[in-house]
Amino acid sequence: MPEPLDFSTRAIHVGQEFDPTTGSVIPPIYQTSTFVQDGIGGLRNGYEYTRGGNPTRTSLETLIANLEGGSHGFSFASGLAGEDTLLRALLRPGDHVVMGNDVYGGTHRLVNRVFVPWGVHLDSVEMTDLDAVRAAMTPATKVLWLETPSNPLMKISDIAALVEIGHAAGVLVVVDNTFASPYLQNPLAFGADIVTHSTTKYLGGHSDVLGGAVVINDDELAEKVRFLQFAVGPVSGPMDAWLTVRGIKTLAVRVERHSSNAQAIAEALVGHPAVGRVFYPGLPDHPGHELAARQMRGFGGMISLALTGGAAVARTFAESTELFQLAESLGGVESLIGYPSEMTHASVKGTSLEVADNIVRLSVGIEGVDDLVGDVLAALDRAAA
Ligand SMILES: *Cc1c(COP(=O)(O)O)cnc(C)c1O
Repeated sequence: MPEPLDFSTRAIHVGQEFDPTTGSVIPPIYQTSTFVQDGIGGLRNGYEYTRGGNPTRTSLETLIANLEGGSHGFSFASGLAGEDTLLRALLRPGDHVVMGNDVYGGTHRLVNRVFVPWGVHLDSVEMTDLDAVRAAMTPATKVLWLETPSNPLMKISDIAALVEIGHAAGVLVVVDNTFASPYLQNPLAFGADIVTHSTTKYLGGHSDVLGGAVVINDDELAEKVRFLQFAVGPVSGPMDAWLTVRGIKTLAVRVERHSSNAQAIAEALVGHPAVGRVFYPGLPDHPGHELAARQMRGFGGMISLALTGGAAVARTFAESTELFQLAESLGGVESLIGYPSEMTHASVKGTSLEVADNIVRLSVGIEGVDDLVGDVLAALDRAAA
């Protein structure tokens, strides 16, 4: 295939060659656990047993590595399964991790409740405060982990600046790129060492499959992750990998629409008496707007609101929308609404990472924009009444 091709072209073709034996345009789902050997050790294309490798998983791994501009992609049963495998490859007891203070709640829980008891040390730091990040580095620090835009307040952190700080301290920089998706942002291009995804979100895009991905440029590090993926076994199954590849084909058009719908909703909410603040990087007064405009190719589909009426109004609002369904997760074609302090961020309640109880988060879908704006405004009226 000629390189470099446009993102949309690569999303539809890379790792997805038609089946040479039948001409099937869509490669078959290799729903098999094992592969026949031509004599002992005579493997066809290296496939032996699906935990070690499966052609449908290879298709997804090739595709996601290409879209992130990395040389090695790994696909997992969930985003957290990928993060766990990666952290096992990077960390030993006594090592130190510096993590954004607003990373995905499950990521914080994984490190704080699984790795810390095994002897890893964790500091949660404000990633938009570069001096604080620099000050948090110790000789034991091995990983700097960030997420931008962050969840749920859509803070934008400067990947290139954080990479500089991390590399000066001899630390690997990991970016969870789930919220932006590779269509809007490629952290490896800013010098990050590793990108992680919950492919459950925008990449899968239809709320019908769980998955995770890790993308790396370094051969030695990739070998460590490959070994653990095989030795521990948190792989994506063939059907899940196939659904994710199918989702990725339309990533570009979906994210364009998620972004334009979100921009329209954010603008409709600015100045609304029930809304104290709209957190959306596409708004000019968002503190990360300029940086997002430089670092991303669009502002994405996630919005959070702080309601002037406090927790009671926020809860009623989250329960009052009709098109926006009350559910965890994000990044699907359908719009979802969430109440972070009791839902996605319940696990950090009572810690310094807790989310204020007047915050409501919207995952803006790709439905008709007027319907979505109307739904949000009507629910605000009901909630504030
Ligand atoms: C959902 C999510 C994860 C975890 O992924 P799972 O697929 O649910 O395991 C990690 N990071 C971010 C930003 C997420 O939104």
